[in-house]
Amino acid sequence: MEPTSPRYDALMTNLRTRERDLIALTQDLIRIPTLNPPGENYRAICDYLDQRLRRMGFATEMIRAHDTPGDCDEYPRWNVVARREGRRAGDCVHFTSHIDVVEVGAGWTFDPFGGELHDGKIYGRGACDMKGGLAASIIAVEAFLGVCPDFAGAIEISGTADEESGGYGGVAYLAEKGYFSPQKVQHVIIPEPLQKDRVCLGHRGGWWAEIETFGEIAHGSMPFLGDCAIRHMGAVLDVFEDKLFPAMALRRTDMPVVPEGARSSTMNINSIHGGQRETPAGSTALPSHCVPDSCRIVIDRRYLVEESLDGVRDEIAGLLDGLKRDRPKFDYAMRELNHVIPSMTDRDAPVARTVAAAIAQVLGKPAEFVASPGSYDQKHIDRIGKLKNCVAYGPGLLELAHKPDEYVGVADMMDSAAVMAQSLATLLLPGPKNGETT
Ligand SMILES: [Zn+2]
Repeated sequence: MEPTSPRYDALMTNLRTRERDLIALTQDLIRIPTLNPPGENYRAICDYLDQRLRRMGFATEMIRAHDTPGDCDEYPRWNVVARREGRRAGDCVHFTSHIDVVEVGAGWTFDPFGGELHDGKIYGRGACDMKGGLAASIIAVEAFLGVCPDFAGAIEISGTADEESGGYGGVAYLAEKGYFSPQKVQHVIIPEPLQKDRVCLGHRGGWWAEIETFGEIAHGSMPFLGDCAIRHMGAVLDVFEDKLFPAMALRRTDMPVVPEGARSSTMNINSIHGGQRETPAGSTALPSHCVPDSCRIVIDRRYLVEESLDGVRDEIAGLLDGLKRDRPKFDYAMRELNHVIPSMTDRDAPVARTVAAAIAQVLGKPAEFVASPGSYDQKHIDRIGKLKNCVAYGPGLLELAHKPDEYVGVADMMDSAAVMAQSLATLLLPGPKNGETT
């Protein structure tokens, strides 16, 4: 829809009348504490969304992800999927948001589940990641339906479980059940907080593993009679410092990952533990004298779309095997804990082009294409759903996610809702699409 057309004006005017509703909706969502873990109140928030979306003429389904991690009668993994058909056949645009939030943590000055509005910002756990994005997409759809009831195709909105713990009881489950098959859905927008002027094309991959080194227990006064597993782990860390980290830093991706530092391969060492169990805080017990026979680390290796998972695994195994050859008595075990594939949508894909053009039209400046250092639900839509036409686009600053005093700006939500509504107009109304010549 041209920004000069009367219908565009009507859409933007309609949207502006909904600001108070957007604030109230965001507050309502924040006030349902959907903490994950353990996965609280998923049913309550799905019921809330179900009622709202049915009022808008959506057909809704409640789907419990049975037998996925964490699903149990006390903490069932509920999802809601809503669909509204247009007047004629056409493409389906799906907005998918996760309903769960991470733990609160210390350092808050606002009530984390109060949804307080202060200076144009709404505060609370999940405000930015990503209840603000969910609310903006609902308001965008409502405004679009108000002005363009004659649209073609279909609109879907889903609220999904467990993204913060991998999405297995959420988008991955729905994708396995066919909810993201390319026959059913053609365009997916994930309103994660990537900033209102950015289109996020994808994310890096991740591989998590535990590495254990072994030794032999002996009396601490005669360590030469045993074999210290922690010293062996020291050798592992040395070889990582000398060889792995410099090699990873040299690898650069063509993906537009932000921040810049994440355009290389990276690895975090999450934890290290060796020797005797730590004593509880406040304990006055003294250490016993033992040579440790085991030391474990957990690594979090983020890899680039240009790397392969096998290459990532083999590189680390190769360094450890080298130590096994060269270092007396060195032995190790490596256990994979989890992995997720990188995902990258082409910037010429219809949904990417459409959202970018809508940003330029609504905000009057060119969109920035970015990719995310950490992963989100796109990996499941890509790998399981086999749907490549997916981007993340939503209000809020990623830097605020998971922090104390998390907030989302009302003006940012309104702007993103305008971009989403304009994207719907481009994808679901007749007329030339972005990039097509008339
Ligand atoms: Zn999120």
